[in-house]
Amino acid sequence: MSLDPGDRRQVHIETFGCQMNEYDSEVVRALLTREGYVMTEDRECADVILMNTCAIRENAHTKVYTHLSDLKALKKSRPLVVGVLGCMAQNLKEELTKHEPLVDLLAGPDSYRQLPALISNAVHAQEQGRYLKALAVDLSEYETYDDIVPARIPGVNAWIAVMRGCDNFCSFCVVPYTRGRERSREPQGILDEAARIAGEGFKQITLLGQNVNSYRSGEWDFARLMVAVADVPGIERVRFTSPHPKDFPAPLLEAVAGHPKICKHIHLPAQSGNDRILGMMNRTYTRGEYLALVERIRSMNSRIVLTTDIIAGFCSETDGEFADTYRLLEEVKYHSAFIFLYSERTNTIAARKFTDDVSPETKSRRVTALVELQRRISTQRNREYLGQTLPVLVEGDAKKSTFQAMGKSDGNVTVIWNKTDLACRPGDLVACSMYDASASTLYARAVGRSEP
Ligand code: SAM
Ligand code: SF4
Repeated sequence: MSLDPGDRRQVHIETFGCQMNEYDSEVVRALLTREGYVMTEDRECADVILMNTCAIRENAHTKVYTHLSDLKALKKSRPLVVGVLGCMAQNLKEELTKHEPLVDLLAGPDSYRQLPALISNAVHAQEQGRYLKALAVDLSEYETYDDIVPARIPGVNAWIAVMRGCDNFCSFCVVPYTRGRERSREPQGILDEAARIAGEGFKQITLLGQNVNSYRSGEWDFARLMVAVADVPGIERVRFTSPHPKDFPAPLLEAVAGHPKICKHIHLPAQSGNDRILGMMNRTYTRGEYLALVERIRSMNSRIVLTTDIIAGFCSETDGEFADTYRLLEEVKYHSAFIFLYSERTNTIAARKFTDDVSPETKSRRVTALVELQRRISTQRNREYLGQTLPVLVEGDAKKSTFQAMGKSDGNVTVIWNKTDLACRPGDLVACSMYDASASTLYARAVGRSEP
């Protein structure tokens, strides 16, 4: 059902969590805009506020609940429809409906096509003084939103979700329950989207999926798809996230190592450096197999930057087992790492089979030790670039100063330089000569244009 003229149609979307959620918000914007809704950045004048949520860790939940509580006063002061979208909607149907009458509708990641009708019904019910709680949380084996052109905000990078869902069932992870089974899009739809994106002026494409490198559609695997996207005229760089270490066949490694437009960066989530913990996590590789993959990647192209995700304090992890993870970081010397404290999620295998028995203090101590170690390693890694001149894709102003510009190296390291060095615009490739480094940033002089 579409809205009648004069209906309340200003929609504000707030997005929490990963890039996939950012992408899904673009899909939702597109679905609502074509039904006559108007997007607004200002929640104060919105008729409908949608929160696209993340369920991956407890702190993601807490953030959403805080934002929901903030809406209570707003909802008392005027007619307002509040919707919760995404992974929390999927996973916490009962708990969220307790927030009645604050939350009017819930829509899981496979139910966004129903949103225009859900919103319209909620608005009409509210106008008649009724309270209607609408739920659309069925998971689909087929939904890929293939035919929807996401409403992207113009910029340098565009995301394309090439697959959705995950069949890996890592024991700690809620994703298979909130996003359902793995399904890949048809390659032609993805390539058409890439060509359109290039025509709109985007310079970089990031291919997205929960286990992006298990992409398969007929004869097309992920390596073939990524090379075809990188060959689309006008696209300067292609990235991908998040891959699983189990899906790196030779053609994929060759594509990353050798294709000039595929960025020399692999995010390689390890989660732990200990075999017993990896087994309990159901990661399907051992420490030795993981290290062999690292070795193979580096032997193919030593410029490839490796980053990772680590979980500290998983069920029954001992000090000795944690030390294996610490040593993994020392050994691999990642350029950067996301380090998380284990957070038990409802419904997961770990929640059902294991006890979350590492104390909060021990978890925090382990996270702090890894963060401090990684900060030292990241600084060392970035200092290796000093004196080198690298191509950098300009993204915009530096966060801390409008007199400085910011961009990313091919290996995804943030680079900052003074705008007075060179006139440049977002999307330009400039050559930057590195003269200083911190754990997170390279400081440079822009010395000229860089060849694509
Ligand atoms: N698909 C990716 C992979 O295979 O690693 C990662 C997806 S997940 C959105 C991003 C990261 O969140 C994971 O790599 C993991 O480190 C972390 N994570 C997932 N579940 C977690 C949990 N229950 N507690 C703490 N961290 C978690
Ligand atoms: Fe979660 Fe594992 Fe799937 Fe990544 S691969 S989304 S960690 S189940």
